[in-house]
Amino acid sequence: MKDQVLRLYRTLTGRRRQQLLARFKSAGTFPVAILFYHRVADTHANDWTMSCRDFERQIEWLRANFDIVDLAEAQRRIQAKRCDRPTVALTFDDGYRDNADFAIPLLIQHRLPATYFVSTEFVRHGSAFPHDVQAGQPLSPNTIDQLQCFAGQGIEIGGHTRTHCDLGQVQDTSVAEDEILGGLQQLEDWLGERPRYFAFPFGMPCNMSQLAVNVLTAGGVSGFCSAYGAWNWPGSPGVHLRRIHADPGLERLKNWLTLDPRKLRDDHELPFAESTTASISNQMSVHPTNLDVHQGTEFHAS
Ligand SMILES: [Zn+2]
Repeated sequence: MKDQVLRLYRTLTGRRRQQLLARFKSAGTFPVAILFYHRVADTHANDWTMSCRDFERQIEWLRANFDIVDLAEAQRRIQAKRCDRPTVALTFDDGYRDNADFAIPLLIQHRLPATYFVSTEFVRHGSAFPHDVQAGQPLSPNTIDQLQCFAGQGIEIGGHTRTHCDLGQVQDTSVAEDEILGGLQQLEDWLGERPRYFAFPFGMPCNMSQLAVNVLTAGGVSGFCSAYGAWNWPGSPGVHLRRIHADPGLERLKNWLTLDPRKLRDDHELPFAESTTASISNQMSVHPTNLDVHQGTEFHAS
């Protein structure tokens, strides 16, 4: 939908949104939003690039309206069965070099937490992602130095496989282990710390599997992210973390996060049993971070 149409839709559904807001507030059941970005830059725009200005506007709006928390705090609020404040967590996928120019410094400047998911082979070789090569835009990945710098300033680094493979297609346990655990081990070697979180490449239900979830469970991660567009409801296991794509502009983000009634349900069928993730949550540990939980002040549903 175009921005004007979306704005009109948001106005027309404003009353319903206000009712939902009041209900979540009084019951302490705000759903938690986990956003994912890929690349923030003003050159070589593509479907997974957002301009610096758009990113800045989104962060401004989020700071004014939401608690911006790290994934561990998001999990804590989900698992506590109670979330009485509008809450959002920020994540990035893949590991694009351009993010070191604007997006990550902006977050660090404002002391905002984020989790940065990296496919390690591209960093190791300094090579472009296959989907960018195919599109005729061989964009650079982050360097190891950049990741160490991010981590040193409180940005959490997470796993995203070694080669950005589609884990939904992997049926061989040793391949899944190599991609998932090999990527986590590589990050641990670079950063001196075992990553706590993992994001499935592509992130649709068909790109996930019980096999991969079993490998993640055995590997001791605290949680893993999908990317098919859904909220996280307080009281759910909170190990599978559902994410929402942060589209360019501001209007789509505002529409989603001010409780678009159409987007509250998650009817996706998952290729794994969420109950099998329960053992992961028992392994969660407290992680020191030097970035604050940012508290928003003025949430409006329209
Ligand atoms: Zn990815």
